[in-house]
Amino acid sequence: MSQPMTKTRTIRRVVAIELAVLAAAATAWRRHPVFATGIAGAGALGAWAAFRSGSPAFGPVITRGPKDAPRAALTFDDGPGPSTPAILDALADEGVHATFFVLGRQARRHPDLVRRMHDEGHQVASHGYDHGILVLRGPAHVRDQLRRTEEAIEDAAGPGVLTHVFRAPHGFRGPATWPSVRTAGYRMAGWTAGVFDSADPGPDVVADRSARALGPGCILLLHDADGWDPDRPRAHTAAAIPDICAAAREKGLSLVTLDELLA
Ligand SMILES: [Zn+2]
Repeated sequence: MSQPMTKTRTIRRVVAIELAVLAAAATAWRRHPVFATGIAGAGALGAWAAFRSGSPAFGPVITRGPKDAPRAALTFDDGPGPSTPAILDALADEGVHATFFVLGRQARRHPDLVRRMHDEGHQVASHGYDHGILVLRGPAHVRDQLRRTEEAIEDAAGPGVLTHVFRAPHGFRGPATWPSVRTAGYRMAGWTAGVFDSADPGPDVVADRSARALGPGCILLLHDADGWDPDRPRAHTAAAIPDICAAAREKGLSLVTLDELLA
C-alpha cells in the first residue's frame, strides 16, 4: 500500500502535467492550431473538473436531493474520531439520523463507534481508506481503497452495515475514479453546501452558515474528524449540532439520512 497522496502533492503534479500539456500545445500550434487548441482545452477542462466536487465530467455525482420535499441531510466526513461520540450524543438528543462517510483507517481505530453509528440508525457510507487524493490514482488503487474500507466496516459492525455510497476525499476525482467506483457497485456523492467547519471557526459560525445553507434537498457537508490528523477533534461541529437542528426545524425541514433524502 503506497502512502496517501496529499492535496498539495496532487495539485503540484496536476499543475506540472498541465504546464507540460500547454508547452506541447504551444509547440504544435504553428502546424496544427486546431489540434493544439483542443489539447490545451481538454487539459484545462480535465484539471478544472478534477477539483470541482460536483462536476459531472468525471462521472455522475449526487449533489442534492429533491427540492420539492421538506427534507435535508446532515453528512459527516473523516471519522470516526475523538469528537464522534459527542456528535452521536447530540444527534440522539435531537432525534436526528445522519450519514457518516467513514474512513477505513478510522474504522480500524474506532470499531465501536462504527457499530454505534449503525445501532443508532445512522447511515454508514465510504470515504475511502486513508483519505489519499484519487485524482492521479489508477483503477487498482481506487478499488483497493474501497475494498479495504468495506473490510474495516464489516469487521467493525458486521456485513450489510456499509451502504454503497462513496464520497471522494475533498470531492476530488480523476479519470479512473468513477469507472472503478461504478464497477464496485457504488454511487458517488458530493454535497450541496459545505460550511468549512474543518477550519474550526467556532460553533456559532458553523451553526449560522449551516442555517443559511439548509433548504429542501440540501446535503450539508460537516466533519466529525480530520482526514489528515486522526487525533484532531471537531468540538466546534459537535457543539453546533443543537443549533443546526433547531434551524432545520424552524425552516420546516426534517433531517434524514442520504438514502432517505434520495428515496
Ligand atoms: Zn474528507
